[in-house]
Amino acid sequence: MATIELRDVTKDFGGVQVIHGANLSIEDNEFVVFVGPSGCGKSTLLRLLSGLEELSSGEIHIDGERVDHLPPARRGLAMVFQSYALYPHMTVFQNMSYALKVAKKSKQEIEAKVHAAAEILQLTELLDRKPKALSGGQRQRVAIGRAIVRDPKVFLFDEPLSNLDAKLRVQMRIELTNLHQQLQSTMIYVTHDQVEAMTMADKIVVMRNGHIEQVGAPLELFNKPVNKFVAGFIGSPA
Ligand code: ADP
Ligand code: MG
Repeated sequence: MATIELRDVTKDFGGVQVIHGANLSIEDNEFVVFVGPSGCGKSTLLRLLSGLEELSSGEIHIDGERVDHLPPARRGLAMVFQSYALYPHMTVFQNMSYALKVAKKSKQEIEAKVHAAAEILQLTELLDRKPKALSGGQRQRVAIGRAIVRDPKVFLFDEPLSNLDAKLRVQMRIELTNLHQQLQSTMIYVTHDQVEAMTMADKIVVMRNGHIEQVGAPLELFNKPVNKFVAGFIGSPA
């Protein structure tokens, strides 16, 4: 669980500003979805949060502590990517335990954490397989399992379902929503898919061209969009 605050966060790449003064508060245990067209800055905002990119200006606070100067490993976050980024030569168990091994956790702790996460994700029978022997949905679950074993305060998901077929996407949406309820952790989820945003979010952050256009619950955005862009994007007339 964690609260997050972004204060006037900006990011430039080579003199071009791609995030323009983002302000945002995220509550404990919220499922927050960043949504907007391709190139609007969703991944960049997530990478700024995780520490994979440095801010050009502004501040990020997690649970009241300023973290924007801390390295990724000290922010208590775990990121799940669209590409899964699994280690192909390692088994599911090894993929899921790798970060814990690097952190020098005991063998017992590693076993316990991996088995608990595998149980949640229905991977128990697959722990000895290599990624190439898994379906797309199973690979995605392993990527999520690698995040769960680290007990992060916050999960960051960057378009985690976009490589899956439509049917599996629907199933994984439900699974992720269940996971959120089970783990009671703050989750930030990036997508360009309005349906995902509307069905999964407690709170939606609509972005366009590096600006946050509106923040609100799905119904609030649907009923009271602040402008034509949000109305068009979320799907009700302004
Ligand atoms: P989204 O995830 O919403 O599709 P991104 O955050 O990936 O958007 O990109 C936002 C903008 O920042 C785009 O114009 C993109 O080209 C630019 N951008 C992202 N990463 C870099 C980078 N490493 N160097 C230069 N420009 C970048
Ligand atoms: Mg992106």
